[in-house]
Amino acid sequence: MSRFACEKVNGIAPYVPGEQPQDKSYIKLNTNENPYYTSDRAVKSITQDVLKNLKRYSDPECKPLVRAIANYYGVSSENVLVTNGSDEALAFCFQAYGRGGVCYADVTYGFYDVFAHMYDCPVEHIHLEKDYSIDFEKYYAKHKTIVIANPNAQTGIALSLSAIEKIIIENSDNIVIVDQAYVDFFGENAIPLIKKYDNLVVVNTFSKSRSLAGARVGYIIADSKLIVDLNKVKYSFHPYNVNTVSMLLAKNAIEDDEYFKLTVSKIVATRAKLIDGLKDLDFYVLPSSANFVLACTQKMSGEDLYFKLKEKAILVRHFSDERIKNFIRITVGTDQETAALLAALKEILEG
Ligand code: PMP
Repeated sequence: MSRFACEKVNGIAPYVPGEQPQDKSYIKLNTNENPYYTSDRAVKSITQDVLKNLKRYSDPECKPLVRAIANYYGVSSENVLVTNGSDEALAFCFQAYGRGGVCYADVTYGFYDVFAHMYDCPVEHIHLEKDYSIDFEKYYAKHKTIVIANPNAQTGIALSLSAIEKIIIENSDNIVIVDQAYVDFFGENAIPLIKKYDNLVVVNTFSKSRSLAGARVGYIIADSKLIVDLNKVKYSFHPYNVNTVSMLLAKNAIEDDEYFKLTVSKIVATRAKLIDGLKDLDFYVLPSSANFVLACTQKMSGEDLYFKLKEKAILVRHFSDERIKNFIRITVGTDQETAALLAALKEILEG
């Protein structure tokens, strides 16, 4: 640290992203990326003309992409705001609605704590149950902004739409943010509820189910008045927040529904094989509605498993947080990657 940094920056524990190693080729199951390539239709939309026209700023309103997202979900363009990854969407939400206090699960997406620190939002953590599920009644009448990752990050466990709706109803004077980064892997989507509730903000991303993590595109869907608030934050921070290339990639990816459905269904099928394989190896596996599973075994600590797998060029994620430190989080890859992971685990545990 330099001696010039302000107190807040000095005091922050920044988010630690998963490794993106460049040194050798790994089976990469650590950052919940999609194992399948970006849609061909999306890739082909990046023509020479598009590249030559990068001399111009990108469209600050992201109109074609906003329309494509609105069409896809049957909402109006006024209900949509596009962001630079959903991390930026969440940052806008914390800035707009977090000052009066935020609450979220004690085991969830680690970035929430970082945003809360950065944007001066007092935090209440709500404990997950022993089985790592969320007791949604604990979220009633909180009188502060609620953030729910659904399916939840790190656990993969989803809340039902009726539980989400009850939370929204029981907090009608406060914002409820539903972070749906993993919803397409068969969670229940809360987007239709924005027509009924003006306190619901849904955050979503192209990073996972649309194979566009490197393009950095996320979006917010909410009542049009909330989108006005959030645009104020955006235009006070970064008007051209999404670049032209990423915008086009995302527009074409969301219009390529056939490829989306194909890849998501493959991931869901592989997830079942991964869970079965882990259980055969005596792992305890949390029920996942996401493109990852959280699993642990009594035979070896999560940290040791992580290192032993890394020696075999397989990357998974290990978190040192007390409640999940015995686990490893494994992204659902292709069938071949999953078979290689299971074979490596067998070798490690039997050796
Ligand atoms: N929310 C959750 C729950 C996540 O796990 C992630 C991915 N790390 C994000 C949001 C952010 O994803 P992105 O910025 O790539 O859209």
